[in-house]
Amino acid sequence: MVALAQAAGDAGFVDKLVIHSPSSGALLGEAPVQTAEDVRDAVARARKAQAAWGALSVRERCHALRAFRHKVAQHADDLARAVSTENGKPLQEALVHDVLPFCDLMAYFERRAPGILAPQSISLHLMMQRRSYLHCVPRGVVGVIGPWNFPFSIPIGDAVMALFAGNAAVIKPSEVTPLIALQAKALWDEACKDEPRLHPDLIQIVTGRGLTGAALCTSGVDQVMFTGSVPTGKKVAVACAERLIPCVLELGGINPAIVTADADIERTAHAILWGAFANSGQVCASISRVYVARPIAEQLTARVVELAGTLVQGDPLNADNELGAMTFLPQIAIGQAILDDAIAQGARVRCGGTPNGRYFPPTVLDNVAHGSRITQDESFTPLLAFVPVDDTETAIRYANDSDKGLMAYVFAGDEEQGARIAERLEAGTTMVNNAIDSHGAPGTPWQGVKQSGLGQVHSAQGLRDLCQVRHVQTRSWLPWMSKELWWYPYSPKVYGVFLQAVKSLWGGGGVDRIMRAIGK
Ligand code: NDP
Repeated sequence: MVALAQAAGDAGFVDKLVIHSPSSGALLGEAPVQTAEDVRDAVARARKAQAAWGALSVRERCHALRAFRHKVAQHADDLARAVSTENGKPLQEALVHDVLPFCDLMAYFERRAPGILAPQSISLHLMMQRRSYLHCVPRGVVGVIGPWNFPFSIPIGDAVMALFAGNAAVIKPSEVTPLIALQAKALWDEACKDEPRLHPDLIQIVTGRGLTGAALCTSGVDQVMFTGSVPTGKKVAVACAERLIPCVLELGGINPAIVTADADIERTAHAILWGAFANSGQVCASISRVYVARPIAEQLTARVVELAGTLVQGDPLNADNELGAMTFLPQIAIGQAILDDAIAQGARVRCGGTPNGRYFPPTVLDNVAHGSRITQDESFTPLLAFVPVDDTETAIRYANDSDKGLMAYVFAGDEEQGARIAERLEAGTTMVNNAIDSHGAPGTPWQGVKQSGLGQVHSAQGLRDLCQVRHVQTRSWLPWMSKELWWYPYSPKVYGVFLQAVKSLWGGGGVDRIMRAIGK
């Protein structure tokens, strides 16, 4: 929890961040509120360090970055405890959702980045005797703005992606969870001592509130990777648009699950349980609303309720506990308001319901009306709504009836049928018979459609997007080809040649025949 050292509010670059444990309330530490000038200085230092880093080959960069992965893996327990302490999520989640996927992300791109970023030739169509290729050039300095729910894996993961691409990164962590970012930075600095090609200024942290994040967008960075809420994402997009710099936006979701009548109840119940309640529902990919075939609706709901009753909530550092404390106090009131609205509209609370201080119990509702707030607004709390439906078409229509499109889920007895349904869902990723964890597969894109985001992180494309992808075209010629036919001078004769060519090549199958003849 953040308490202001003075009653100065969120109005400016004043005072400092004072961080308390969400679960125990213990004072954890402080972090400065850095000013626009501090941010510009950090970007300038990053730019200086990037010059040498960007000049290394991709292979050398990958080799050098291993030192950081080793450092993180060696300190996995410290990091997991720090994440759990500052964020309030269970220790196992801190390790398995934050630290482990980060290590694997690094290992994946260490092996693949040289291939992904290698020059790519483009097969040309009619313009023969030319050679075209794309080559990837680092953008420079990437600003990374992170949320509090995955305070290690998201901002530090985005930063290392930027580094694989040859950039430097300046990270603005959430004001709610700055300490873990500072701890990661300390490990980075240690890795720099072991590996001379790494420079401390390649990863920098600027702490503060929204103004510090806003300052990062206007500090001269060459790209912004933002993860957070839709309203803040729009502000970031405007700031980047004014500077004509690209931004990647990973925003919120209100993620549906469709369950068909032939779904395996046991696996579906376990997946939905975890998908809804991991990290106390504070996951952008959390399952929030379940459109379940009416014949199995009660059986599935009852099983989820039964399983929810077995979950142990308490001190996140106790490795037996499955739900910890809510990270961000105001989120509890948001969830409570959404819950109250659902109840007012006739929903029935099957379990959970009343937050106890910082602990929000896993809460299952049925008899939910599609269209009520709980099916439209991201609660970011452990609220799960069941809506029985008569057919799959209705389920698809309800699932797509949202301005967000981050994740969607399908549970079906027939995997292929599940995939057909998945293809019709308006989501950046749809998982069939599984929940949440595709973020942990670094080769796959992580992205939202509609209001859930722009661009993607992870994946080959996500890495290339961190570069300027430039096109080079070369032309070889014979001595008699001193000019192209369409260069000066223009004349009726040349016009006639082109007119005839348009008619004969594109007016019928001529161009296709030529392409086939030359094997293109
Ligand atoms: P916010 O949008 O409140 O904040 C995100 C970050 O932006 C924070 O570091 C915040 O700083 C900073 N910020 C605030 N104002 C500005 C500004 N004007 N310009 C630049 N940066 C600014 O999101 P939360 O931290 O509350 O995170 C929760 C949200 O993130 C949820 O909606 C969730 O769905 C989404 N999310 C999306 C993910 C995805 O991959 N699609 C993954 C994880 C979360 P400060 O905290 O100091 O205010």
